[in-house]
Amino acid sequence: MSLRNLPSVDRLLAQASDVIQAYGRPLTTQALRDVLAEARAQARGAAGNEHLVAPLPDAGELLARARARLAALRTARLRPVINATGVILHTNLGRAPLAASALAQIEAAARGYSTLEYDLAAGERGQRSAQAEALLVRLTGAEAALVVNNNAAAVLLALTALAQGRAVLIARGQLVEIGGGFRVPDVLKQSGARLVEVGTTNRTHLQDYASALDEQVAVVLRAHHSNFKIIGFATEPSLAELCSLGRPVVDDLGSGALLDTAAYGLVHEPTVQESLAAGAGLVCFSGDKLLGGPQAGLIVGRRALVDQLRRHPLARAVRPDKLCLAALHATLLHYARDEATREIPVWRMLAAPLDGLARRAQAWAAELAPNAAVAGARVSVTAGESTVGGGSLPGETLPTWLLALEVAAPNTFAARLRAQPAPVVARVAGDRVLLDPRTVAEAEAPAMLDSLRAVLLEYRTNEP
Ligand SMILES: *Cc1c(COP(=O)(O)O)cnc(C)c1O
Repeated sequence: MSLRNLPSVDRLLAQASDVIQAYGRPLTTQALRDVLAEARAQARGAAGNEHLVAPLPDAGELLARARARLAALRTARLRPVINATGVILHTNLGRAPLAASALAQIEAAARGYSTLEYDLAAGERGQRSAQAEALLVRLTGAEAALVVNNNAAAVLLALTALAQGRAVLIARGQLVEIGGGFRVPDVLKQSGARLVEVGTTNRTHLQDYASALDEQVAVVLRAHHSNFKIIGFATEPSLAELCSLGRPVVDDLGSGALLDTAAYGLVHEPTVQESLAAGAGLVCFSGDKLLGGPQAGLIVGRRALVDQLRRHPLARAVRPDKLCLAALHATLLHYARDEATREIPVWRMLAAPLDGLARRAQAWAAELAPNAAVAGARVSVTAGESTVGGGSLPGETLPTWLLALEVAAPNTFAARLRAQPAPVVARVAGDRVLLDPRTVAEAEAPAMLDSLRAVLLEYRTNEP
């Protein structure tokens, strides 16, 4: 056997009419070249031997490999999944699902032209994001607002515009890393501001800030601890105390609620309004965490500071796109109309009454009982906990009712659930697979039950 026994690209192409039909000639040719190169490399082995260390694939095998490559190319990377984990703001699963009105506005803005930067009455250029910013001002009581691409960009822009070449004070206990590589010290470095850490890991006093204050200090930064919690012997000055230092305070709230989470049996997550009332110069927060909107960074605060950010060249590089602004405006309108807990999915999930969750889990259990019995699985409904996620309310949980499937090899079961045409992401605890109705929309339940039935059926016919 030698490499010359491999078929040529042309010979393979002659047998690949179905593939060419599906993917076109250029892509098919490229895929065949790739699988041939791979086969040559495999046959030669790691050392690149002249005589072959592995058998050569035949034409049928090569065509099958090319087909698989092309199919993978066509499968969308971004697939809808059903989130049965009970983590409401699951960053890996795309954080906040959007309100129906936000989806409608995205569609309308995407389909044709829009007034993105156009003033219809004047017939001339208008300001991008003016409507969303006006609503933010109205909802929070701030003097001015600015929308950027995400909250990491908001913090970077704020520090760059206000403190580049100068110093920023921050408590040592707030030098946090949140998910996805956002580290407060690195963002500070990137902004060109010098970081001045004050206090200790667990305790920082106003006096620590006061003694570090000199004319180099342009900004005091406060960062929400996000997804971790310091418990025990710990203290930090209040925001109002920080504001008494006489420098603009930039408050990175992270999630930044507009509504009071305490109304839903959770601890109180600091609200944007409270930060402003305490005197923060700028408050930065995410659009797709507790706000329940699209990915965005929202900045509200004093007009002079917001304008300084707006005029900075970096603002242009981190500006939001029209789809984001369309969805953000629609989301904010629900707050303005006082219907957020009815219309915004994140708040609907937070506010979901416990008896309703129990009823849904019981209905699922009843539907699946026959399939489970055949598969030798036990279905039940059990009390459990949902979490908020998204860097808000660390350690806080909401009581819920879970559908529990006691199966052999629960991790295999969960993996097969994820492999269904309608993938379902569930939790595994001990010998049970757990599904939380809190994060599964009513409209998703039939598809979720289909996926569960399909996996139960596989379990019956094909022991794990
Ligand atoms: C989530 C978070 C960010 C980053 O927000 P993105 O919108 O994901 O860029 C920054 N700071 C804090 C404290 C956060 O919790």
